[in-house]
Amino acid sequence: MDRDSVDSGVLRRLWRAVASRYSSYDLVLPGENSFICRAATCNAWCCRALSVPVGDADAERMQRASGLPPAQFLECENGEPIALPLAEPYLLARREGACSLLGKDLLCSRYEGRPVACRLYPYQPAWLDVETGRPVSRGAVGAIALVLRHRECPGFTGPPLGEEEWVELVASLQRLQSGESQGSDWPERQA
Ligand code: SF4
Ligand code: SF4
Repeated sequence: MDRDSVDSGVLRRLWRAVASRYSSYDLVLPGENSFICRAATCNAWCCRALSVPVGDADAERMQRASGLPPAQFLECENGEPIALPLAEPYLLARREGACSLLGKDLLCSRYEGRPVACRLYPYQPAWLDVETGRPVSRGAVGAIALVLRHRECPGFTGPPLGEEEWVELVASLQRLQSGESQGSDWPERQA
């Protein structure tokens, strides 16, 4: 999709076809409120409520950035990280009802090393074939991205998202998913 032609009608059509599979999410279109994280207003809800999946690349990055051994930031059993038979086999360790890396100041204490799931949040891109609406790989011929936002996040109070900003958002999400970019292009958390 080029910068001058965000076709909200197509995005809505695709969303209607798949919305039931994403019951915790809403579609983000140009013109809707942008995201500004305000952790103080929600007491860092996402870092308390969600269990964060961690892939091998995430675990390596966290180890590199934080200097912590995996057993200190992943859920463990008998001192070893629990590995589930999934593409992202680990979970961030939790303590007292929150991610163990959440600081008392409501900021991430290992921000540079946080997993991709944390970098993407509160967004979730869904790649679909524009004709059939079937899920496809990112970058596949005919793929189009729906930008979804997690309904529980109260941070969507910013100024309306322009079309160019929406296109940039899709590009940012794509870079984050592919590992090309390590940072989020949306506002950083304000505790
Ligand atoms: S991303 Fe949303 S849920 Fe998480 S701390 Fe920010 S405002 Fe709260
Ligand atoms: S790693 Fe950081 S951003 Fe992710 S859940 Fe833990 S405290 Fe929150």
